[in-house]
Amino acid sequence: MDQATPILLADPRPLVDPFQRTISYLRVSVTDRCDFRCVYCMSEDMTFLPKRDLLTLEELDRLCSIFIGRGVRKLRLTGGEPLVRRDIITLFRSLSRHLDSGALEELTVTTNGSQLAKYAADLAACGVKRINVSLDTLDPDKFRKITRWGDLNQVMRGIDAAQAAGLKIKINAVALKGVNEDEFESLIDWAHGRGMDLTFIEVMPLGDIEPSRIDQFLPLSMLRARLMDRYTLDEIDYATGGPARYVRVRETGGRLGFITPMTHNFCESCNRVRLTCTGTLYMCLGQEDAADLRAPLRASMSDDPVSDAIDRAILRKPRGHDFIIDRRKRAPSVGRHMSMTGG
Ligand code: SAM
Ligand code: SF4
Repeated sequence: MDQATPILLADPRPLVDPFQRTISYLRVSVTDRCDFRCVYCMSEDMTFLPKRDLLTLEELDRLCSIFIGRGVRKLRLTGGEPLVRRDIITLFRSLSRHLDSGALEELTVTTNGSQLAKYAADLAACGVKRINVSLDTLDPDKFRKITRWGDLNQVMRGIDAAQAAGLKIKINAVALKGVNEDEFESLIDWAHGRGMDLTFIEVMPLGDIEPSRIDQFLPLSMLRARLMDRYTLDEIDYATGGPARYVRVRETGGRLGFITPMTHNFCESCNRVRLTCTGTLYMCLGQEDAADLRAPLRASMSDDPVSDAIDRAILRKPRGHDFIIDRRKRAPSVGRHMSMTGG
C-alpha cells in the first residue's frame, strides 16, 4: 500500500467495563419524536428537543462507526419512532457498509410499525434481517386508546410488508394491568401463528407521566403462571445478552420472551450501552449517569477524543440498575422518558 494512504484499521481496544463485561451492543435513539403517544411512554403534550440539539445523520453515522471500530457488533436504531426521522434510510444505507465489511454482525431497528409499509423493502435492502415491532393489543379501539394516535390497520399493513420483504419480526408487548390482560393468549396465538417471536415487557418506571404506572404494573411472574394454565412453557437455552428470558410454547412451537426489569436482575450479562439523539451516552437504562459525546464529536475531525470519552464512560458503567416503583412517593425512579433512550 502507498505510504501516503491512511490505514483505516479498527481500534484494537475492545470496550470492557469494570465488571469485565464486553460492550458489543449499541442502541441508538435517532429521534425523540414519535407519531404515537403511548400512555406508558409519553404524555400527550410532549415537548421535543429543538432540531439544533440533534445529531445530524452524518454525525450519527460517525459516532456509530467509532463504536463499531471499538468492537460493537450489533446496532439497533430506536427512538422515539426511528422511522419518522427524515431520510432515516440514508443512515441505514451508510451503516450497512459495516455489514458488508463484516465489522458489524447485525443492524436492526425497534419500531411501532406505522412506517413499515413504506420502508420495509428499503430496510431489507440495507441488510436489516430482523426487526422488533411494538404492539400491545389486537383490538383497534384499545390500540387507539393505548397509543392515543395510532392506527392498528396501518401497523398490520406494515407487518405484512415486513414479512413480504423477508424481515423476521419479534413483537414486543407491554403487559398492562387491566388493559391488555385479557389478550395475552390471543397475542401468543397470533404472533406464533405468523411465525413471529413475542416478548412481554413489564412497565418500567421511566419518565413522569400520568396515569401513575403503579396502576399499570403487572408482574410477569403472574402472567407466566397464568399462561401455564393453558400452555406448556419449555425452558430453552436462548439468550441475547439482554434482559429477555425465553421459553418455547409447546402448543404453538413459537418462542416467548419475558423482560422483567422490576422483578428479575439481568445486569450481570449486560453487554449494551445507549446513545441518545443528542449524543449522550447512557451506560445503564436504569441509572442517570451519562457522558456527552457530542462535544468531543463536534470539537475535532479526529475520532480520538470521542474514543477517549467512550473509554472514560465505559469505566463508569454501573454494576446494575435500581428500578423501584416508589409506592409512597408515586414518583418514577428514573426521570427521563423511554423515548429519550429508546428502551
Ligand atoms: N417507537 C418505537 C417502538 O415503540 O417500538 C421504539 C421506541 S419505544 C420507546 C421502545 C420500546 O419501549 C417499545 O416496545 C415500548 O413499548 C417500550 N416502552 C416504552 N415505555 C415503556 C415503559 N415505561 N416501560 C416498559 N416499556 C416501555
Ligand atoms: Fe412512540 Fe414507541 Fe413511545 Fe409508543 S412506545 S410513544 S411508539 S416511542
